[in-house]
Amino acid sequence: MEKMIFIIIGVIVVIGVSFFVVFKVLFAHIFKMTIHEFDKELTIFVGGGGNSIVLRSENNDQILIIDTKMMDYAKKMKEYIDDMGGNPEITIVNTHFHMDHVTGNENYPESKLITGDYPDEEWRKMTKQKHMPDIKIKPGDDYVMNIGTEVVTIKNMGHAHTSQDLIIYLKNRNILITGDILYQKRHPVLFESHGCDPDHWIDVINVLIKDYPGSVVIPGHGDITDESALVMLKEYFEEIKDAVGAKKKIADLRKKYNYLDGIPFMANFDTTLAYFKKKTNQ
Ligand SMILES: [Zn+2]
Repeated sequence: MEKMIFIIIGVIVVIGVSFFVVFKVLFAHIFKMTIHEFDKELTIFVGGGGNSIVLRSENNDQILIIDTKMMDYAKKMKEYIDDMGGNPEITIVNTHFHMDHVTGNENYPESKLITGDYPDEEWRKMTKQKHMPDIKIKPGDDYVMNIGTEVVTIKNMGHAHTSQDLIIYLKNRNILITGDILYQKRHPVLFESHGCDPDHWIDVINVLIKDYPGSVVIPGHGDITDESALVMLKEYFEEIKDAVGAKKKIADLRKKYNYLDGIPFMANFDTTLAYFKKKTNQ
């Protein structure tokens, strides 16, 4: 009996330590933040939660922040903005309501907030934020604003990663910011309860490929890229959807996509496969 207890405790310890090691490695990888000064007015923050940008007008009287990160990374981005000096009017766009994209909003209580058309209650529940949106963009609609000489178009693409996913396009720079509609070299997070719809997500990716050719693409997670990453994610969805129920195809795809980063139980080959299995009732 005593031996048995020791074995059980041993197994629990081994599992616990393994989880800790896996998460520690993942944590470092996922949350490492790098700062790219794209040009004098545009800074791209890769990692530290969802990717973010800070776009400043030439005379520093306006700042646009797209997604505000979480934890220390949100603070670091705020310090970076403070170091720019001046007293600029700040506008925040949240591409969607996930914590790793919105938690830093609280660092800018005076800012104007632009989001998708989430019901207030859902916004509060998902973001735990007091700061309510000032402008909500409905699915299919867009909103155009100028930050200095840059023309910024914010568009609600509807259901994809969540029920309301915004993309932002910087016309002069030909830069597309996708939020979590694009994961670069990572398995996507698919939460049905958050309004995720991979079928419509594929349609949205097709629109982005068609409408923003040759643009620099800033994904929600992963490195700065181009439209090839959109094509890759589209193929990933289509191939896995097509493989449901076909063992050999699934085995081949599992091997093919082994190089992608993932998060245990949350975003990996099996969670994507399970999602499409459920969709097709298999
Ligand atoms: Zn997300």
